[in-house]
Amino acid sequence: MGTSLPPVIVGLDNGGTMNNATVLDLVTGQFLVEHMLERPSRVREGPEVAIEALASSFGQVLDLTGVPRGAVRAVGLDTPGPASADGVLSSRGGTNLGGGWGGFNIRAALEHRLSLPVVYTNDANAAALYAHHARFGPDAARHSSVAVIVGTGLGGGVVESGHVVSGAAGMAGELGHVQIPLEGLLEDGQPVPACNCGLAGDVESFASLSGIERSLLPYWLTRFPGHPLGEVQPADKAAKLVRGYGEAGDPLARAIFGQQAKALGRLFSIAAMFTDPGTYFVGGGVVEADPAFRGWFLERVREHTTLRAEQARVVEFILVPDLDRAGARGAALAARSAVDQRA
Ligand SMILES: [Zn+2]
Repeated sequence: MGTSLPPVIVGLDNGGTMNNATVLDLVTGQFLVEHMLERPSRVREGPEVAIEALASSFGQVLDLTGVPRGAVRAVGLDTPGPASADGVLSSRGGTNLGGGWGGFNIRAALEHRLSLPVVYTNDANAAALYAHHARFGPDAARHSSVAVIVGTGLGGGVVESGHVVSGAAGMAGELGHVQIPLEGLLEDGQPVPACNCGLAGDVESFASLSGIERSLLPYWLTRFPGHPLGEVQPADKAAKLVRGYGEAGDPLARAIFGQQAKALGRLFSIAAMFTDPGTYFVGGGVVEADPAFRGWFLERVREHTTLRAEQARVVEFILVPDLDRAGARGAALAARSAVDQRA
């Protein structure tokens, strides 16, 4: 059994509340699931229950697509980070999944449960890889890109010649914790924002929901006394409302997003000197915002990215497409890369 079946890879995206699954046909390069295939991830109930939930997502996606189990070459798995390159969740990052996860090797546990090779990718790297392949299709191997995903934190990914750069310890593409020059970025008297990772003035300390909550909103409220967001409690609720104000053109919200765009531009200026990518992707909550607002945001990022004339002529700035499917699809693409490299 197996040799005559068209081979596939199953992609599983493990999230804080839901799992999402897809199937990648290795012969055609097409995904066999068009819509979202979601089931509860049950990660709050601990690793054992969550592994069973992943196994049931795996079974469901095979049933739905009619693909026999013997056709599955490998499984791509992504989770919220941080984790090692081999899928051991960091004790500091366990907070994304709830208690009981620190030090747990989710990749090995799923591999054991399914008796199939499982390739692990963090969620931001998966999104970066999916964005790259969605943009370039069969030409993916001839292009390079860098992606930032602005969410609660700031995730990222670097894709070189179609493959995600994972690094020696799996920490390549941790773009949120790159420190950026602050001169001209901070307003006079504005405190330097601090990141959850312990660094001050890194990209995530500006360009993330937690950056808005901890630093940017408290500061900008002092510049806009009487703003209605000053009355909203608790602080995380106020932070989530800033985007809606931004879409409506509110000056305080535009100042906050403008500062985030500037921070991303400074990160991309560093990327331009490091790997000189052809495509700069921006994803996350802002992608779900109304088109005029996300266009405004992307244009600010481009404006604040310092490029040489030769680069400015050839690069593009674009938004990460359909982010909700990007995890499962990117995880499948990462597994395909790993299978190709082993072959
Ligand atoms: Zn940081």
